[in-house]
Amino acid sequence: MNSNNPFENAMKQLTRSVAKLRIKNSELRIKVERLKNPEKIIQVWFPVRLDDGSEKIFEGYRVQYNSALGPYKGGIRFHSDVSLDEVKALAFLMTVKCALVDIPMGGGKGGVVVDPKGLSEKELERLSRAYVRAIAKDIGPDVDIPAPDVNTNPKIMAWMVDEFAKQLTINNSQLIKRKKLIKGEVLATFTGKPLNKGGSKGRVEATGRGGVYVLQALLRKLRTTNYKLQTIAVQGVGNVGSIFGRLAEAAGFKVVALSDSKGAIYNPRGLEVGAVAAWKKSTGKVTDYPNSQNLTNTELLELPVDILVPAALENVLTAENAGRVRAKIILELANGPTTLQADEIFRKKRVHIIPDFLANAGGVTVSYFEWLQNIKGQHWLERKVNEELKIKIEKAFERVWQIHHSQGVDLRTAAYLSALQKLT
Ligand code: NAD
Repeated sequence: MNSNNPFENAMKQLTRSVAKLRIKNSELRIKVERLKNPEKIIQVWFPVRLDDGSEKIFEGYRVQYNSALGPYKGGIRFHSDVSLDEVKALAFLMTVKCALVDIPMGGGKGGVVVDPKGLSEKELERLSRAYVRAIAKDIGPDVDIPAPDVNTNPKIMAWMVDEFAKQLTINNSQLIKRKKLIKGEVLATFTGKPLNKGGSKGRVEATGRGGVYVLQALLRKLRTTNYKLQTIAVQGVGNVGSIFGRLAEAAGFKVVALSDSKGAIYNPRGLEVGAVAAWKKSTGKVTDYPNSQNLTNTELLELPVDILVPAALENVLTAENAGRVRAKIILELANGPTTLQADEIFRKKRVHIIPDFLANAGGVTVSYFEWLQNIKGQHWLERKVNEELKIKIEKAFERVWQIHHSQGVDLRTAAYLSALQKLT
């Protein structure tokens, strides 16, 4: 039975990947069992004053999934569909992602059940601050380090770090009973901050950039070096999709299709990603872009391209459409774009899927660099950030490729095994 429970699906994917190996390895089984539950779930209800003077209670979570490798690390999502199971699934994914790219951090995730579009700027700020007050005693630079996720951004991180700093100075606060934090450590409690508030150069671009690095690493293994012949369709031109598209184009790839929530465009001779982004900015959509064909988002997924890049939503590649997908490589920049059934179909079709927790690991990698810079009082040049990112992503890919090759398993299974080797 197909479940809509994101946590159950994540667990099924983990067990199914490992079961593929048919290994009677009890040590591995123990490691998998340990990963089936979070270490701690924090559930909070907190009041927020609205602009009309009334007060509303909001519900939020912070899931601290696994700290075997270091402090919990993961974003905070503001969305009306946030649920405990979703936050647990995303916190689990952060655990394997950090292990896979070999950063000394564990997995965590937070969320507040709210439609932020229904709030004024002031209400959004009060909500962000109230959530931080509610979880303040459970976070810190060596405990749990939040970051932005869906509907949260650098400005919200700046409010959050400011509120956390205030809590540290309040008399009788539970926070002042712990080790006194110096300024850099206070900043290091959150990543994804604005540049002038302790953020890192290259953080905004990191997820898309990491996606290009890992794609190039795969193509090198497949002995494909002429990127001009490689066509790409990108679903979703948000932060991740548009930056990936721009950087892929700069690396020589031919981006032929792009989409947003309203529809898709296609030009087999290639689109100019920057010009499409400018078009979207002025018209509010990508469709009707000059010299291109309008398509639906479903049609984009089935185009005759070499590389398909889902960079928007989860569960877009399903049992229903997987058979019609013609791309030979799928780079999962979105979290969870492929259902379990579709994954099975792609496996049989021998499609190379670069799994989400490898494909989009650039974001958390540069978040870790931001944390390091804050702790050490350093400011890295963008060139250094990008070079270090490339090293981390290429090494992670190489480990996955070796397992893929030596054990004859697909890249997702190999990535799980690589992460499990690190997680004790
Ligand atoms: P975003 O909100 O900036 O962009 C999402 C894009 O998807 C928008 O262009 C939107 O128009 C488009 N979209 C929405 N519904 C669509 C639909 N039905 N069909 C096609 N397009 C649709 O979000 P983002 O930060 O770019 O994140 C995208 C994905 O990447 C998410 O799954 C997120 O979890 C994942 N991710 C993001 C980061 C990061 O650093 N931002 C890191 C890791 C993973």
